Amino acid sequence: MTSGASDGPLVEVQGLGKSFAARSGLLARLLRRGGTIRALDGVNLSIRRGETLGLIGESGCGKSTLARVLLRLQEPSAGTIRFDGEDITAADRNRLRQLRRRMQIVFQDPYAALNPRQTVEQIVGLPLRIAQRLGREAARPHVAAMIERVGLKRTHLNRFPHQFSGGQRQRIGIARALVARPDFVICDEAVSALDVSIQAQILGLLQELRRDLGLTYLFISHNLAVVGHVSDRIAVMYLGEVVELAPARAVLAAPRHPYTQSLLAAVPRLAARDAAIRPKLAGEPPSPIAPPPGCRFHPRCAKAVDSCRTTRPTLRDISLDHAVACHLADNP
Ligand code: SF4
Repeated sequence: MTSGASDGPLVEVQGLGKSFAARSGLLARLLRRGGTIRALDGVNLSIRRGETLGLIGESGCGKSTLARVLLRLQEPSAGTIRFDGEDITAADRNRLRQLRRRMQIVFQDPYAALNPRQTVEQIVGLPLRIAQRLGREAARPHVAAMIERVGLKRTHLNRFPHQFSGGQRQRIGIARALVARPDFVICDEAVSALDVSIQAQILGLLQELRRDLGLTYLFISHNLAVVGHVSDRIAVMYLGEVVELAPARAVLAAPRHPYTQSLLAAVPRLAARDAAIRPKLAGEPPSPIAPPPGCRFHPRCAKAVDSCRTTRPTLRDISLDHAVACHLADNP
């Protein structure tokens, strides 16, 4: 559980930015020069204690960059990150090592994320041994208990990752993330690489663990159906910024940003009754090297008016617990 340093959100980011130099790659070649990729540009977000905040958006919108910057696996270019009331934006290496026990991540590809030369006991035990400076013998009972907690067996401890199925490997990844008893876990496309039936099992396990261990999740996925199923609230990202943030039921039943509406219209079983009148998402997202002026969604937005092309909308409350970055959000 959290240390309870404050009653505020567990995680809070303000004006978070992350830029990369683009000196190679297709975009840079097309532009015949380098440039700056603004992967995150002024992200404002808070994650409440004990909730699952879903984060949705097209590939390349900045979801995974946000995950890495939140954990300080990548350095932010601008803005602040607060964790349990503490500003960790510039925390030094020692402080980060302490914080990493409390902030963990489950990756998309469990096979790539697990060292093939290590046994399950070594893989799962490492974060615990680092966090609590335990020897292998002392860590073993905790590792064995966590392995059983995620639905594997003690006899699996001496096996290697290639001896498991994809679903079992993801259970190992979850055990590794939870063994040191974190407060905050980022699930970055954690079920995207799995078969649908296995996805359901892993989602069920994650929900059970959240409830039993008092965890807070940031659940990142490109799959709106999956995010809608597990989330208390949903944040929608487009080209490096959050454009809608609201309870999951509000996002699914009455989305207010045209981008969210288009995402939903593309998922028939989630689409609201009036989805037929909502335009499906057309075209590709613009380049993050040269984002459009004004609202970044305006080249793809069927509702765009003149001010959309010049003035960037900010994320603002349009009703209790529902924030939208759109000039026309008050007139859906
Ligand atoms: Fe569309 Fe304008 Fe709203 Fe952007 S601000 S989503 S372009 S209506």
